[in-house]
Amino acid sequence: MTDVNFPPRPEAPLKVAVSSCLLGSEVRYDGGHKRSSLCHGALEGLFEMRGLCPEVGIGMGVPRDPIQLVGDLAAPRAQGVKAPDLDVTDALAGYAQQISPQLDDIAGYIFIKNSPSCGLFRVKVYPPKGGAPTAKGRGIYAAELTRLRPQLPVEENGRLEDAVLRENFVMRAFCYAHWQALLATGLTAARLIEFHSRYKYLLMAHSVRHYQQAGKLLSNLKQNLDAVADSYFGVLMAGLACPATRGGHSNVLQHLQGYVSDAMDASARQELASTIDSYRKGEVPLLAPLTLLRHHLGRHGSDYVLAQTYLEPHPPAAGLRRAL
Ligand code: SF4
Repeated sequence: MTDVNFPPRPEAPLKVAVSSCLLGSEVRYDGGHKRSSLCHGALEGLFEMRGLCPEVGIGMGVPRDPIQLVGDLAAPRAQGVKAPDLDVTDALAGYAQQISPQLDDIAGYIFIKNSPSCGLFRVKVYPPKGGAPTAKGRGIYAAELTRLRPQLPVEENGRLEDAVLRENFVMRAFCYAHWQALLATGLTAARLIEFHSRYKYLLMAHSVRHYQQAGKLLSNLKQNLDAVADSYFGVLMAGLACPATRGGHSNVLQHLQGYVSDAMDASARQELASTIDSYRKGEVPLLAPLTLLRHHLGRHGSDYVLAQTYLEPHPPAAGLRRAL
């Protein structure tokens, strides 16, 4: 039986943290900003953005001497470009530790690319004695914050220009917000199972391996419930971060069709099956079979199948699935 207290997924706008300079704040070392049209365009309405600048947060001031990552790729230091004696590594990591407890209400974090403080991927790390950098580092503040909050959806502004990656980030943020709402309501074994029952097909579309792992974890709820729930959510977020292929979506569409197939007449069944097949071959976008499927589920589907997050992982008005 459905738990009447099971929380609905939170509505947009969700709170997310963003590197301040992306919002247009003039906090960069040179007194400038990196205002992103994303924050004021494609993502507007979905998110309420809270700007954070770790370099200003540790008192570096504006303008200031620039810093760069130097040394060991696995544990680089953030040092002054002009004055290598300036080392703000510990201060930036400490700022992440100070800020992290204040981020319980956020559903994601958008970092700016290439920054020795905020960059998530491929940040340049310079050899101590000079020479060409290796672009494989992570900004000091971003590295510490993601260590402290490993399940928080994170992305970089550059990658969010890609419509598929953007959809994926928004989907994960809504899932994360829903999970936080569930925890706030009070975790019970029944609610954990209900949560999974709503997300299982979304997870299956992204990663069958993680879907199987999640099912296995939930098959034994006699262990410590909090620990199982935490492991489960880690698996869910890792699976959702995997890009969903056409094969993955087609598989789920077919599964969902199975819930109403018997109630459909032969021509409607055939039409839906061939539209799913056209999608699998790349001839039509996901919205073609999905719209048709939703029509049939609306007529014949049970509450269980209509509650599947896969059908609407984020507000449809944002049009994010047009890219898939
Ligand atoms: S520390 Fe981060 S938020 Fe601040 S200016 Fe640099 S990249 Fe932007």
